[in-house]
Amino acid sequence: MRLRTFESFWLIKNGLLHSYPFLDKALKTDILVIGGGITGALVSHALMEKGYQVALIEKRDIAQGSTSATTSMLQYEIDVSLTDLAEQIGEKAAATCYQAGRRAIQAIAKLVKENKLDCGFESKESLYFAHSKEAAKKLKQEFEIREKHKLGVTWLSAKEIKTTYGIICFGGILSDTAASLDAYKFAHELIKLNVDRGMKVYDQTEITEFKLNQKKPEVLTSDGVKISCGKVIFCSGFETTRMLKENIADLFDTYATVSEQRITLKPKFYKTLFWNTSEPYLYMRMTDDGRLLIGGEDSQFRMPLFQQSIKEKKSTKLQETLQEIMPSIDFIEDFSWAGTFGSTKDGLPYIGKSPEYDNSLFVLGFGGNGITFSIQAMDIITALLEGENPELAEYYRFGR
Ligand SMILES: Cc1cc2nc3c(=O)[nH]c(=O)nc-3n(C[C@H](O)[C@H](O)[C@H](O)COP(=O)(O)OP(=O)(O)OC[C@H]3O[C@@H](n4cnc5c(N)ncnc54)[C@H](O)[C@@H]3O)c2cc1C
Repeated sequence: MRLRTFESFWLIKNGLLHSYPFLDKALKTDILVIGGGITGALVSHALMEKGYQVALIEKRDIAQGSTSATTSMLQYEIDVSLTDLAEQIGEKAAATCYQAGRRAIQAIAKLVKENKLDCGFESKESLYFAHSKEAAKKLKQEFEIREKHKLGVTWLSAKEIKTTYGIICFGGILSDTAASLDAYKFAHELIKLNVDRGMKVYDQTEITEFKLNQKKPEVLTSDGVKISCGKVIFCSGFETTRMLKENIADLFDTYATVSEQRITLKPKFYKTLFWNTSEPYLYMRMTDDGRLLIGGEDSQFRMPLFQQSIKEKKSTKLQETLQEIMPSIDFIEDFSWAGTFGSTKDGLPYIGKSPEYDNSLFVLGFGGNGITFSIQAMDIITALLEGENPELAEYYRFGR
């Protein structure tokens, strides 16, 4: 009998790195950040850098939401192809969104290095490969538009991919800018760094009442404790969709599994992130401790979440798909888990003001590159607070 975990790998690997008091008395702050996941960590860091007085509130322990489940592939690529996004919002705007993703990956590399964050960060390449002959034709067109917009891409033939990575497919786009990290550890480390320079953090504290459409905004915790603040920044993840009338995203369950450490792959495999053109797509990467991580098999969002039996079936299916494209691989499952995942109509996030709530800004990075959007939010949110209107805020706005 093999007893498997139902918890995400990152939680087990790292344990509870830092914990904070819950809020038991009234608080006043310039900016209140709601949510202690990777988005809250990044945005609160940007606000601290600008000199704001910041308090961060988290209803669970730090980084125990989606940030503990994420597979943390940092990609400039959006779930909606540049070709399709160009049709939806225009080619110039679509290219701007893709280029912003590249800059975000460079920015997080700099942030990790400058602050010496111990979070398994590795710069990598990314290979988007075709799962069928038909898909390869479309992907070649995608390659051409990406090349036109100087996104650092090279086309690899099926033969080159087989030789270099050992993957059977029909050709693919290799991109020079990507990275991976341990998002759980990153969020903890970045929040701790800012706590050490004055940011207030309270965990196990849930905000349940929002009085934002008044001159002096305030929110209340589930214990009735009042927080008065100048602005609220919602970094509260997929659950935030419940407080919005605008239907901004569809939610899915998604599944991931990691192998044991004794797995040997071609040298370049270790330095590359992979995803393919099938729907839902399969993705994979190596972890910083030498495991192969595979994910995908998205299915309709269900409550109650993640029954054990479904997770087991999905994990088996992921491994079968892997076996088809890499027949000689010896993947021995060590951990598997499930998480909630959101998808918007254009693959873009919602960052900025919702017409439903005054005195507040939202950072809701959906899709397979949600984290890349959260990095972009650092500049967008600080610019919006300073009264500017950055170009990206136009593409990521509510009501679009
Ligand atoms: C299996 C899986 C794989 C993924 N893979 C990738 C990937 O490879 N690359 C990528 O970029 N993205 C990926 N994603 C998406 C990525 O995980 C998310 O975009 C990211 O984690 C969102 O972080 P967050 O901080 O916004 O949300 P969360 O980590 O969920 O943080 C939000 C926090 O807000 C808190 N909160 C909510 N409401 C309240 C309240 N009222 N009061 C107080 N606190 C509150 C929650 O407890 C939570 O901790 C993946 C997601 C999953 C599930």
